[in-house]
Amino acid sequence: MGYLYDDQNIFAKILRGEIPNTTVLETEHCLAFRDISAQAPEHVLVIPKGPYVCFDHFANTASAEEIVDFTRAIGQVTSALKVDPGTGGDGYRLLANTGKDGVQDVPHLHVHLVAGRPLGRMLRDG
Ligand code: 5GP
Repeated sequence: MGYLYDDQNIFAKILRGEIPNTTVLETEHCLAFRDISAQAPEHVLVIPKGPYVCFDHFANTASAEEIVDFTRAIGQVTSALKVDPGTGGDGYRLLANTGKDGVQDVPHLHVHLVAGRPLGRMLRDG
C-alpha cells in the first residue's frame, strides 16, 4: 500500500499561499514556519514543498536534491534560532509524528523543531 497525497491539507494550502504563515526560512525545496500553537518558546515546522505525506514517503521517494535541501534547511533553522550547541546554543528537539500511532494530524511531512526551554524526557504516556 503506497501513499496518496491529499492536496487539501493545511500545509499544502500554506505552500500555495492560501493560508498565511510566519516564515522563518524558505529554500528551493522547503519552507520553515512557526507552529500556530507553539509548545515551547521556539517551535518551527520544516516542510518540503513536494507532496510527501510523511518521513518514510519522503526518504524513499524524494530526489537526492530535495533530501539534501531539507536536511540543510533544518540546520539553517537551528542556526537562525541560535539553538545549535555547536555555536553555544542550548539545543533542541526534532520530531516527525507519523501515522496513527505517531499521532500525525497534518498529512504533509513536517519536522517539529522545538527549543527554548528544557524539554524533559522524550516519551511519556498519554
Ligand atoms: P502533527 O500533530 O501533525 O505532528 O502537528 C501538526 C502541527 O501543525 C501542530 O503542532 C499544529 O499546531 C500545527 N498547525 C496546524 N494548523 C496550522 C496552521 O494553520 N498554521 C501553522 N503555522 N501551524 C499549524
